[in-house]
Amino acid sequence: MPGEFELIGRYFTRPARTALLGVGDDCALVKQPDGLALAISTDMLVEGVHFDPAVDPESLGHKAMAVNLSDLAAMGAEPRWATLAIALPAVREDWLAAFSRGLFTLAERFGVDLIGGDTTRGPLTLSITVIGTSPPGLALRRDGAQPGDDIWLSGCTGEAGLGLAVRAGALKLPPDVARACLRRLDWPEPRVALGRALRGVAHSAIDVSDGLLQDLGHICERSSLAARIEADRLPRAQAVALSGERGMQALLAGGDDYELCFTAASKDRELVLAAAARLGVAVSRIGTLSEGTVGVTLFGPGGQEPLPVLRGYDHFSR
Ligand code: ADP
Ligand code: MG
Repeated sequence: MPGEFELIGRYFTRPARTALLGVGDDCALVKQPDGLALAISTDMLVEGVHFDPAVDPESLGHKAMAVNLSDLAAMGAEPRWATLAIALPAVREDWLAAFSRGLFTLAERFGVDLIGGDTTRGPLTLSITVIGTSPPGLALRRDGAQPGDDIWLSGCTGEAGLGLAVRAGALKLPPDVARACLRRLDWPEPRVALGRALRGVAHSAIDVSDGLLQDLGHICERSSLAARIEADRLPRAQAVALSGERGMQALLAGGDDYELCFTAASKDRELVLAAAARLGVAVSRIGTLSEGTVGVTLFGPGGQEPLPVLRGYDHFSR
């Protein structure tokens, strides 16, 4: 069966006639008369696919908005507006009150107005479209990476993926460590301020929603470059360190991290570190880009390491 990205490529990708950037990045870019570009992105959450029916509705409202804001963060865009399309199996006002509280609390933190949407009966589905603004030349695109760039990662990856295993009862961790994983899974923090601060510094960026290797792979494809990742440089949360092979799998290929993976010239290391320090966000230099076979290679102390079997999330190819 074709994978998600093949389907998008085959059936939904046409040259953008008037947009600055169409299908294939974290957001589309549309030029505005005032010179700013609009960055537009849609993300959908479906019960049973993206979340469990028993999930706390307040965290679901937060997450539905957060995963969308994360795509604006990945473009370095300023969040401005959102629309919400929601299908509900039944009206439960306590559920809706908690859901909307989670959604608006995060929206307000980032100055986002909910300006429209659609409400219908159906299997619980949440689709949010966010619109942000960015100076067009400064948007952080996937296709802007340069040979010789450092590869950077904000925060660390893997905890949300392990949180999913904890919730399914498939992984036991010390209670406080398990709680941290579930928090990462349910309450992701979009890296909006970091994305904005990286304008004019980073050459390319993506948000890590489907696994670090897969998402970095999208930068490689769009920029036609080879990425070399140093396993030793990948920051490891406590849960990852305690979970052996499974921890490494989650770190490299788990989903739902919503960190930013970005690239910048090595001469700009101090600029990157200063921007991150100003915002109190940890960033790690995890590898380098070069000309060569397009794709990601992982290196350990003993040389090239095998990539995990699971190459990140794809809705159709498994
Ligand atoms: P992200 O993980 O950043 O949300 P996706 O992997 O979901 O991005 O999508 C990859 C690209 O394909 C994006 O540019 C997205 O806008 C586009 N895309 C996905 N589904 C469709 C569709 N049905 N029609 C048009 N474009 C789509
Ligand atoms: Mg994205």
